[in-house]
Order: sequence, then structure tokens, then C-alpha cells
Amino acid sequence: MARYIGPVCRLCRREGMKLFLKGERCHTEKCAIEKRNFAPGQHGKDRKPKLVGYGLQLREKQKARRYYGLLEGQFRNLFERAFATKGVTGEHLLNSLERRLDNVVYRMGLGTSRNQARQLVRHGHLTVNGRKVNIPSFEVKPNDVIEVREKSKNNPTILAARDATAHAPSPNWLEVDRDNLKGKMLAQPKREELVQIQLNEQLIVELYSK
Ligand code: SF4
Repeated sequence: MARYIGPVCRLCRREGMKLFLKGERCHTEKCAIEKRNFAPGQHGKDRKPKLVGYGLQLREKQKARRYYGLLEGQFRNLFERAFATKGVTGEHLLNSLERRLDNVVYRMGLGTSRNQARQLVRHGHLTVNGRKVNIPSFEVKPNDVIEVREKSKNNPTILAARDATAHAPSPNWLEVDRDNLKGKMLAQPKREELVQIQLNEQLIVELYSK
């Protein structure tokens, strides 16, 4: 599956906020948002557009898409599914983004960024309910047990990520056993537990409903 492989800090600068795409660096003073919080490009410094209507909706969608590391087609598909589901579309959308296996692995602290977590999944280091799963978009359900495979338990990347993320609390909907590199999804995440950045999902729904 295709993915964005360009520079990631410029994505944060474009959105004017930290999207935490680069692991540990995001929590240091080396973060590009700390050093130059203005839009990328030659005229980025002078560009301070007042966003209204479509512009505002577009930025909100881009922010969510980049935060979870999805391409437009993948994001759109998730929206269509959320739209077809009974209930609040925006919440369904965020819920399915949050339940992606790569995101769950990241939230368990086994990767320092979603990108790293995705790579771990792709490389087959994880199991769900005892079966190897190497599909980052796999949707985790309540009661699913996610675990690092036995033969990957000494993987230096995973161990380093676990140590580096020791300070980060895991969400209430996940029970994490850091020592055994294992976790269980306890329940569906509530709205306030979804997305750790400021995001108005209603604007995304409005954008795609035009
Ligand atoms: Fe974004 Fe992290 Fe780069 Fe900072 S260091 S700009 S939070 S990706």
C-alpha cells in the first residue's frame, strides 16, 4: 500500500501544530514547530491566511489524515464507511482511525510514532488473538489481544520504543502489559479519548458531504 514518504515536519508546519510524526524528536526542542512555526515554502513566513468555509474544512481533514498517516483514498474510504454507519459520522470516522492496528500498537507504546508502529506491523512482529497480522489497517475490536510475537520480543527497536514511551500513559480503552509487550482492547474508545490533538471532525463531514 502506498504511503507518504516525503519530509514530515513540513506537514506539521503546514497545519501549524505538532502532529507527532517523528517519535522522540517531537518532544524535544529540535521539533520544527518549536523552531519555525510558520508554513513551509519560500513565502511561508508571510502567508497568514484567514481560513473560513472550505479552507477551514480542508485543513481539518488534512490535519486528521496526516496525523494518522493515511493517503486521501484510504481516508475517503473510511469516511464512506463511517457515513454508511448509523450514528454520528464524525465519531465513527475517528473511531475507525483510532482502532487501526498501527495506531493501537503506537498507543501501546511499542512504536515511537505511527510510522514506526506501521513498519512493525508490516514486518510481521505482531499478533492479534494469537495470529500473525501484518495489515496496518486491520481494525482492532474490543477484547482483541495484541502481542509482540515470541521471536520478536527481543527486537531492539521495539524494546527501545517501549522504554522511550514509558512516560506516556496508555488510553483507558487499552490495557497494556509493557513487560510482556502485550495489550488488550477493553472497550470502544469514547470521543474524548480519540485523537490527542485539537480536531473538529464535523468540518471533515461537511467537506465530504458537499
Ligand atoms: Fe511535527 Fe514531530 Fe517534526 Fe515537530 S518534530 S514538526 S511534532 S514531526
